[in-house]
Amino acid sequence: MSETVLKINNLVKRYKELIAVDNFNMEIKKGEIFGLLGPNGSGKTTTINCILSLLRYDKGDIEIFGEKMSPKRNDIKRRIGIVSQKVAVFEELTVYENIDYFCGLYINDKAKRKQYVEEAIEFVSLGDFKKFYPKKLSGGLLRRLNIACGIAHKPELIIMDEPTVAVDPQSRNNILEGIEKLNEQGATIIYTSHYMEEVEQICSRILIMDSGKAVALGTKEELKGKIKNTEVIYVDIKKIDEEHIKNLLSYNHIYSVAHENNQLVIKCSGGKHNITNVVEYLSDHDISYDRIYSQLPTLNDVFLEITGKELRDGE
Ligand code: ADP
Ligand code: MG
Repeated sequence: MSETVLKINNLVKRYKELIAVDNFNMEIKKGEIFGLLGPNGSGKTTTINCILSLLRYDKGDIEIFGEKMSPKRNDIKRRIGIVSQKVAVFEELTVYENIDYFCGLYINDKAKRKQYVEEAIEFVSLGDFKKFYPKKLSGGLLRRLNIACGIAHKPELIIMDEPTVAVDPQSRNNILEGIEKLNEQGATIIYTSHYMEEVEQICSRILIMDSGKAVALGTKEELKGKIKNTEVIYVDIKKIDEEHIKNLLSYNHIYSVAHENNQLVIKCSGGKHNITNVVEYLSDHDISYDRIYSQLPTLNDVFLEITGKELRDGE
């Protein structure tokens, strides 16, 4: 087994009456890209701030690199890189000066620091913007600067809190590829997001969080294996009689049939020939339709089955 980088035991954080983090446990091994997935307000940022000792918490303890974390542990902090959800850079410093400032908090050697700053700039592809002030950067470029500031000192553990929110698709891909590259270079990554696609794309293990609690943990395959839904069949069809819906429901592996937004949505549990059965049923009954296709469950389906709510927030 590879070594544990972070361990959270029974963490509880309250804001007055609200329990933002509720007896939360999490363990991360060296070399992982660990995804913390949950809707807005589920407690991801609060958990991160507790990990970093930026917030006091009510109960529990946090170990990083095998040692108990506390606000005074600068020796631990210098081994961590944090990319916060809110961009935190200095308006009065240029791109270069910002990265140099944050790197300088941990790297004293001048030559090494210069090299690290240049490497961070290269890494986020901000070479053409070194002398720009943050105000002049687009949202995507500003996010990249925020990342460069967090990782320039080459931390062993990098915590990124929703780094792609409000970022254009090109910068988003650039950021995701960058995270994979940092991981290949040896960094352990904690990645929080409410975008299931991103988490699926890059994370080795995923913890699903809801209302401050850990509700499921595993690889994306393991998570999908936990639920009843194994396949959803969509049929583009304007109208269908209630009788046909009932008949389809009587099939062995079909457990839910609904007609919504001009689509028949058929949820299946197990079985290999569901789509063939549906196609045959429709043609036997002379029901015409446009497209028919089948999809494997997404992490949204996992979230829906476990919590009864949608993970998507309509973006
Ligand atoms: P996430 O990062 O998953 O969106 P947060 O950790 O920011 O969630 O928030 C978790 C819950 O705690 C939310 O209900 C939020 O409104 C609440 N919360 C966050 N920060 C504060 C605060 N400073 N004071 C009071 N409530 C807060
Ligand atoms: Mg957050």
